Amino acid sequence: MQSKTSLGWLNKISHIPLDAGAEEEARRQDVIIAILMLTGSVVITGLSIWDLLVGMGPAWVNLITLAVGLLATVVYLVLLRSGRTSLLMTLVLMVFLHFFWLITGDVEWAGMLWCLVMLPLFFHLLGHRQGSKLVFAIILISATVLLWPNTEYLAATYSLDMRYRFLLAYLVLAWISFMVEYVRYQTRQRFQEARDHLNYQARTDELTGLANRRGFKEYLGESEQRRESGKGLFAVIIGDLDNFKQINDEYGHEVGDFVLQEIGHTLKKLVRSEDLVVRWGGEEFLILMADTDLKGAEVLAEKVRHEIASTSVAVEGGQVAVTMSLGVDAQKPQGDLYFTLGSADRAMYEAKRRGRDCVVAAEEDGGSGDNQTVLESPSPAL
Ligand code: GH3
Ligand code: MG
Ligand code: MG
Repeated sequence: MQSKTSLGWLNKISHIPLDAGAEEEARRQDVIIAILMLTGSVVITGLSIWDLLVGMGPAWVNLITLAVGLLATVVYLVLLRSGRTSLLMTLVLMVFLHFFWLITGDVEWAGMLWCLVMLPLFFHLLGHRQGSKLVFAIILISATVLLWPNTEYLAATYSLDMRYRFLLAYLVLAWISFMVEYVRYQTRQRFQEARDHLNYQARTDELTGLANRRGFKEYLGESEQRRESGKGLFAVIIGDLDNFKQINDEYGHEVGDFVLQEIGHTLKKLVRSEDLVVRWGGEEFLILMADTDLKGAEVLAEKVRHEIASTSVAVEGGQVAVTMSLGVDAQKPQGDLYFTLGSADRAMYEAKRRGRDCVVAAEEDGGSGDNQTVLESPSPAL
């Protein structure tokens, strides 16, 4: 699929897939710059050899150009192999060549052409903001060099008209390059925003704004490193609303939806900022707590149960009382989190079996259901 895109050949050179992350993307940019600079260096080297052979332009200018061209060719070949470019070195080289060509004129006034060729690269390398600062400075210094009365620094013999026209052409091209880079920047920003938005939507439950199962998996992936470093054992609470079908039947589906949203808010309010609340299923929620033991999770589960049971949700046409049955377990060292999820789920069903509106913690042996602790079992649900 990737090799069919127009950048497929570049892909082969850079060995970086087109849908790579930001760091890889920066590496691809480096490779592109190295290819551009290598092309320029080869052209410079070739031209200066040709000029030396046919005796075009001053020999000392051609010799310096040849030395710079050869050196740059070798350096960019090495850089291309390593897949990195030195931005500073590239800029220094380009600014040097700009003033060298402007002052010497290369062959007659051809140096001015190469100055124009290099201009868009400054924007490509530095972006529209930094690029315009550097180009502005280059224009100012170039104008001073070209328009200073009776200057001795200019080795080339330009007519005054030629100097004005060069500066005007340079300004126009600078403006065009700035606009192109600016539009490219904006497009990239919009693309980035759209991608972030889609990512957010994909891992978020639309109704409650909580994480969905995909968000849960991504969160686990992100915390992988913590677990590798020996920390990051999770505790899990699974809570299921009691007799929720009745609420739907009695008040309608919309009220049911509203109750689910309110429960989502309540859960978010009670957990720590580093905990993750997931809408696990229809009226089933999961709380994932990093670096928490079973005792800590039980305390939070009881807080959740109490908060939900003691506050009814105000809806049109009355107050809806709702309760939740919760199962809790904590991951053992080197234990599989999905095993912990399973035992928390079984503990939740045990809570249902024991009359609902209570918290059941899985026992040390993994929680078979019969040997679990019931923390609290007050009034029957609804
Ligand atoms: P239990 O105490 O055993 O959990 O009983 P329950 O009625 O809560 O469980 P049951 O599984 O029989 O029913 C769950 C209900 O949750 C059925 C379904 O209509 C409702 N539900 C699931 N998702 C949504 C939703 O997004 N919005 C609304 N309004 N209701 C939902
Ligand atoms: Mg239920
Ligand atoms: Mg359920």
